[in-house]
Amino acid sequence: MRRRAKVAVVGAGAAGLVAARELLREGHASVSVFEKSGRVGGTWAYDPRADADPLGRHDPDSPGGAVHGSLYASLRTNLPRELMGFSGFPMAGGRVFAGDPRTFPGHREVLAFLDAFAEESGVLTHVRLRTEVLRVRPLGNEQGERWVVAWRGEDGEVAEEVFDAVVVCNGHCTVPLVPKIRGIDKWRGKQMHSHNYRVPEPFRESNVVVVGLGASGIDIAREISYVAKEVHIAARYSEDRLGKIERYQNVWLHAEIDCIQDDGRVKFAEGSAVAADTILYCTGYRYHFPFLDLDGLTVDDNRVGPLYRHVFPPKYAPNLSFVGLPSKTVIFPSFELESKWVAAVLSGRVTLPSEEVMMAAVREDYRRMEEAARPKRHTHALWPEWVEYVNWLADQVGEPHLDARLCDMYERALKCIWSLDDRYRDRWEEEEKVHNGGDSAVSSVLGINLPEHRIA
Ligand SMILES: Cc1cc2nc3c(=O)[nH]c(=O)nc-3n(C[C@H](O)[C@H](O)[C@H](O)COP(=O)(O)OP(=O)(O)OC[C@H]3O[C@@H](n4cnc5c(N)ncnc54)[C@H](O)[C@@H]3O)c2cc1C
Repeated sequence: MRRRAKVAVVGAGAAGLVAARELLREGHASVSVFEKSGRVGGTWAYDPRADADPLGRHDPDSPGGAVHGSLYASLRTNLPRELMGFSGFPMAGGRVFAGDPRTFPGHREVLAFLDAFAEESGVLTHVRLRTEVLRVRPLGNEQGERWVVAWRGEDGEVAEEVFDAVVVCNGHCTVPLVPKIRGIDKWRGKQMHSHNYRVPEPFRESNVVVVGLGASGIDIAREISYVAKEVHIAARYSEDRLGKIERYQNVWLHAEIDCIQDDGRVKFAEGSAVAADTILYCTGYRYHFPFLDLDGLTVDDNRVGPLYRHVFPPKYAPNLSFVGLPSKTVIFPSFELESKWVAAVLSGRVTLPSEEVMMAAVREDYRRMEEAARPKRHTHALWPEWVEYVNWLADQVGEPHLDARLCDMYERALKCIWSLDDRYRDRWEEEEKVHNGGDSAVSSVLGINLPEHRIA
């Protein structure tokens, strides 16, 4: 007998939408998706507003206080659309949702894709918009047999409802992670986190230090360089590429920031120093669950734990789960497989190991990370083992492994991002067209040889 659970999903971004679809497909009794904003799509709903504090140091516990979105106006996807679809509902294959057929479309196209997905999958009717989850707690003294969800609706009223299970999909690109810089008290310029970056104009004629060389850091540094006097990127693992970046007029690559000197200049680890107007942190985000306060479940140095395979906290499994924590993977396909796993475990079609066995697996994962000297904060950053994870999830739910061509495409996209080639998206597309979409065509542009550790 399959169990048909009453399930609450927190958040109607890409993760919450696909989680809801899989729960419905699995035949669960009811699925309610709580969404605090006025629409579905989460991150992909571009929000021109920025936080009052440029570093996003709002009180993250004060509900509704922060701007959720972190997209900049010009943002195009950093992955090709083929890697951003769901099974039975691809984004590629000639499908266009907001008039932007590019291989790496702008954010409006992704949002329109998610709107269409919500509608056509039937999930939209299960979404409660403008309904913010304030608290999720186990009922009574139970260890998570059932859950009480407290939320505030549009009218400001707070209500509670009991569910059999809760799937947390609240997104993880909202609360800035800002590194501590030695001597920052001597800094007299501006500071901002990429969460609050929207357009380059405020940086006209100024000198900017961009910290971090992830996808956003690279995009933003490039965009600012067209209006700024100088852009200096500070990044780890950049030792062999230090100095002026050839293809830009006014961009230099440095090692990470060492300190702010007494004279207020920014000193980099390789020894050089620059005077700057702004430090712009493109240093990622913190996992944050203001509605959860559970014994034995913590966020420590950006490790959410303990979690069995990034999804189930052993103590509260299977009725509490998280979809969408991993990064450095094919994000949408990972969301879908995690969701399928959650839906199948909740129905009883798939069983989890005992709490002890799950805890032992978590401890083993942590041990292996330590052995490999990987910092705790990278717990949910899956590269280079992302394929193993995605295929492991597929095995749990009897789905085929990820197509080798797509695996290859993702690795190549990462190398493109790292190549600092500001035209990689268009070049990829041009070559795709010339060679009629052949994989070998893409590889000439993308066969960039970079040391493997740079991609992490
Ligand atoms: C700048 C940037 C560029 C990116 N580019 C790409 C890319 O090219 N390709 C890619 O695959 N991914 C990209 N990503 C990653 C992106 O985060 C994922 O694609 C995905 O959209 C995340 O979906 P999510 O559902 O986990 O979170 P979100 O999209 O953040 O959705 C979470 C939802 O939960 C809601 N919510 C939160 N708390 C509550 C609460 N208490 N009650 C009710 N509702 C709540 C929020 O309002 C939101 O709608 C990018 C991210 C950023 C920031």
